[in-house]
Amino acid sequence: MELVATENQTMIAQMVRDFGATHIKPFMREWDDTQEFPVEVFHKLGELGLMGVLVPQEYGGAGFGYTEYVTAIAELSKIDPSIGLSMAAHNSLCTGHILQHASEEQKRKYLPKLASGEWIGAWGLTEPNTGSDAGNMRTTAVLDGDHYVLNGAKNFITHGKSGNVAVVIARTGEVGDSHGMTAFIIERGTPGFEAGRKEDKLGMRASETTELIFTDCRVPKENVIGKVGDGFVQALKVLDGGRISIAALSLGIAQGAYEAALQYSKERQQFNQPISNFQGISFKLADMATEIEAASLLTYRAADMKDQGLSVNRESAMAKLYASEVCVRVSNEAVQIFGGYGYTKDYPAEKFYRDSKLCTIGEGTSEIQKLVIARTILK
Ligand SMILES: Cc1cc2nc3c(=O)[nH]c(=O)nc-3n(C[C@H](O)[C@H](O)[C@H](O)COP(=O)(O)OP(=O)(O)OC[C@H]3O[C@@H](n4cnc5c(N)ncnc54)[C@H](O)[C@@H]3O)c2cc1C
Repeated sequence: MELVATENQTMIAQMVRDFGATHIKPFMREWDDTQEFPVEVFHKLGELGLMGVLVPQEYGGAGFGYTEYVTAIAELSKIDPSIGLSMAAHNSLCTGHILQHASEEQKRKYLPKLASGEWIGAWGLTEPNTGSDAGNMRTTAVLDGDHYVLNGAKNFITHGKSGNVAVVIARTGEVGDSHGMTAFIIERGTPGFEAGRKEDKLGMRASETTELIFTDCRVPKENVIGKVGDGFVQALKVLDGGRISIAALSLGIAQGAYEAALQYSKERQQFNQPISNFQGISFKLADMATEIEAASLLTYRAADMKDQGLSVNRESAMAKLYASEVCVRVSNEAVQIFGGYGYTKDYPAEKFYRDSKLCTIGEGTSEIQKLVIARTILK
């Protein structure tokens, strides 16, 4: 595994920093206050190739690997984790599902629009009563002639309202049968397909999270991804890659919070000296830096293995588990180092702290990651 940043990684990191300084930093406080999803930012990210990082160039993507993808998400998340989350969900989930499992015709139809950022993608697995236990979903898809008719609801869906297209997994077989679910591509505007309530969230407030509601929604048979009955198995494979992106998101948050706290600790004077002189503060910084390095190694290792075409079921779960727990700890310590100012919106620490918590929940909670890891080591 290459431990020094490649030319592509260095170029991507600089491009993201430049983009963030102009198009994100001046506006992020307002987006966070008002929970605005800045859709135009994602169209612009598309122009930079960041909405189709993993999509081959023949489908209009950037054609990079996971290593470059991790760098892009981490750099974006150092600036605004909400933008990092939305970029990751678009690339890994909706676009990733189509890239990995759709037919050639479906790829040619949807990937160029998604990879260019012209269209925003959503991915619907979670339901109000089935989150960790997603395989127990209740949204149904029943064959009627040459259409499937969908009824039910999905919740916590990133870009559920603004997404132009969604990949949705629904039940086509018996409850309890892991081959009783099928993935569909559903375009916004399809009758019977609506966005429901938008969540009012603790953090990640510029990333849109809404319900999806299906009422006798007729979806043509040709919008089935892969084989009928393979939807849940496909989703688990998509999540193996997706978890690397949440590890990258976590890494960026931890790095952003740490860098802000490090700088502040050198500037803030108490007892006539910078607070970084106190061992109580410098040891916190030492722990934060060490944990970030360890999270980075696990994340880039999973990315490197994925780029080599190896199975990353265990490695992506380990990276996601560790990096997400680290980002919560590091952003908590960052608030502590900022003291009272860390508790205000005048400094970046409180936002990293609020945003960080999503990472131990989304795309499988920490408990579910442990379940995945335990399964692989006990088999
Ligand atoms: C901001 C945001 C964006 C999201 N985006 C999407 C999206 O785009 N698409 C999508 O499909 N979903 C999305 N989700 C949903 C997310 O994946 C789920 O919230 C997550 O999988 C947990 O499900 P749940 O919320 O129903 O919690 P539950 O499954 O109800 O879990 C509650 C608690 O019980 C624990 N628990 C559950 N089962 C076990 C077990 N077997 N052993 C031990 N502990 C267990 C959990 O770890 C957790 O602590 C998003 C969520 C959020 C908050």
